Amino acid sequence: MDIKFSDRANGLKASAIRELLKLTEMPEVISFAGGLPAPELFPVEKVKEIFSEVMEKEGTSALQYGPTEGYRPLREIVAKQRMSTAQMDLTADDILITTGSQQGLEFSAKLFLNKGDVVICESPSYLGAINAFAAYEPKFIEVEMDDEGIIISELEKALKENPNAKMIYTIPDFQNPTGKTMPDDRRKRIAELAAEYKIPVIEDNPYGELIFEGTVHPAIKSYDKEGWVVFLGTFSKIFAPGMRLGWVCASPKILDKYIIIKQGADLQSSSLDQRIAAAFMQKYDLNDHILKIREVYGKRRNLMLECMDKYFPAEVKHTNPYGGLFAWVELRDDLDAAKIMEECIKENVAYVPGEPFFPTSGRKNFFRVNYSCMPDDKIIEGVKRIGKVLNKYYEK
Ligand code: PMP
Repeated sequence: MDIKFSDRANGLKASAIRELLKLTEMPEVISFAGGLPAPELFPVEKVKEIFSEVMEKEGTSALQYGPTEGYRPLREIVAKQRMSTAQMDLTADDILITTGSQQGLEFSAKLFLNKGDVVICESPSYLGAINAFAAYEPKFIEVEMDDEGIIISELEKALKENPNAKMIYTIPDFQNPTGKTMPDDRRKRIAELAAEYKIPVIEDNPYGELIFEGTVHPAIKSYDKEGWVVFLGTFSKIFAPGMRLGWVCASPKILDKYIIIKQGADLQSSSLDQRIAAAFMQKYDLNDHILKIREVYGKRRNLMLECMDKYFPAEVKHTNPYGGLFAWVELRDDLDAAKIMEECIKENVAYVPGEPFFPTSGRKNFFRVNYSCMPDDKIIEGVKRIGKVLNKYYEK
């Protein structure tokens, strides 16, 4: 059948790794491949009660169309509660509610990228963003990271070498996939570079509040004096991803464009979900819920790192995230994590091979593990099984 897709669609390809990941869904597999929040922490009973209250008090408006910008009380809560932890003082007018931050990523590409434009990103970067951007046919420039995130001198070099670059994409806190976090001086410097090079920065921050030690870092946007930084936030990891509620925070000139794009994409995010989320946060303190999540994930992080140290060959390196959902494992240069994963699947354990997180360099000797959504016994057993496979490759 000769289907005449757009050039854009013709460029979209299913990856071999995605096929491999389908195998991780078999019930007998202990999968560290997903990125799901722990379902046992979802406040199901409280949401049930809030749902009834919303239907009782404002049922008709919850089922009606609403403004593209979002339900005002929810925008207010985002501005006053969530963005203040990132050390920003905002109002509802600075916020557009989106259908998850994934929609913010898609809109960012639509807003800033023509075919062939340069996107500067971390090496590696979030696969979902790479995919969302790829539909707009940009050229990716990967910038090296060290243990503290993107290396500023390398970023400056990329900016100098690509003076027409259209945007910088960064995940400063507990990055997906590496779990790495930028210190505050790097955040400040990125905001300064954005102004210097007049380039928008997309600061994607789903994990900043899931910090296990210390207080939430200030956002890159908190250092943004001229309005070059776009902050993408989400309730997915601090409340419930099924609500599909995220937000864009940007300067008025940029935010207005996002609103126009949102209008064309889906008119608005769900009136019902926005009201439930807002009513929940008016009645209960989301900070209490976040504290619970931090505690559970922090313990699982400890166990995962301990198990990797115990069961993986000594030469295998891993990151030491102090928040978020993921750690990143580095194998010897000549090893291919996707090939090794085929053997892991036979042992009924899985991770995500790192290759697709590198949009151009496709490095093969890394993989990502998730620790948020797995009970302790499975973390221990799963890491043991991966260790058993890895040890075969490291035996002398
Ligand atoms: N950005 C990053 C870095 C992510 O890891 C995710 C989810 N895995 C998202 C954005 C999208 O999340 P959501 O659309 O659920 O807000």
